Amino acid sequence: MKKVVFLSGAGISAESGISTFRDSGGLWENHDVMEVCSVGGFRLNRRLVLDFYDARRKGLADKKPNRAHCMVAELQREFPGRIINLTQNVDDLFEKARCESVVHLHGELTKARCEHCDETTQIDYEEIPLGMKCPRCGSAAMRHHIVKFGQAAPMYQIQHTAIDDAAAQGWLLVVIGTSGQVLPVESYARMMRHSILNNLEAQGDIDGEAFTQAFYGKAGEYADRIQVLAREFLTQADGES
Ligand code: NAD
Ligand code: ZN
Repeated sequence: MKKVVFLSGAGISAESGISTFRDSGGLWENHDVMEVCSVGGFRLNRRLVLDFYDARRKGLADKKPNRAHCMVAELQREFPGRIINLTQNVDDLFEKARCESVVHLHGELTKARCEHCDETTQIDYEEIPLGMKCPRCGSAAMRHHIVKFGQAAPMYQIQHTAIDDAAAQGWLLVVIGTSGQVLPVESYARMMRHSILNNLEAQGDIDGEAFTQAFYGKAGEYADRIQVLAREFLTQADGES
């Protein structure tokens, strides 16, 4: 059965008031990205990094999903089991939009993780105090549940399977709001028979020509159009592509 694979990045949440990396010129909320996003930076200054993510997490509390998050949630309800929702985002806007499933490739701000036993625990918008104890093993080694540069991303296995299946089965790939600097979305599109790109503007790292269709503009504004295309794709008889 045909499926649609969504792969989103920070741009899908921009209209909800969460800044992207790219907009911040290599800085994320005035911090050097390597300071707050690398294994080395965390080792050097654990509290500074925890404080940084505490602030990002707190900032999520009043953020609301926009039309693009809701569009994916609606499709998931309409086509159960046929919408794969992969995101590089660490915010909880797909959850707030009531998506049935979300694969967070780079972790989630609203969870803490034990460095000792890997247990994750839901903390919503709370801070992680230094020395916070793991509910499973009791170690005082809880940290933010975010994948850092230089660390393995366990969810990539799910993503690789989804991309390979989409290529092999002729599914539709929809890429929204990512600069392609972390994930090679242009090469994914080249593997596909059907693909859609929606970014704010054309940019160097992604050749829009690699996609069947490319829409440049705000994700919230293109969401309805993308929903119609996804629906058409899913309701076409198999083999009709
Ligand atoms: P990025 O910041 O590198 O690029 C953002 C992309 O979104 C750009 O291509 C831009 O054209 C596009 N964009 C901006 N506003 C848009 C809009 N309104 N509609 C459509 N597109 C829009 O983002 P990335 O590729 O996701 O990489 C950044 C990394 O930083 C990710 O790994 C992510 O985990 C992390 N991050 C996450 C968040 C979040 O969770 N919301 C925010 C910032 C960074
Ligand atoms: Zn533990």
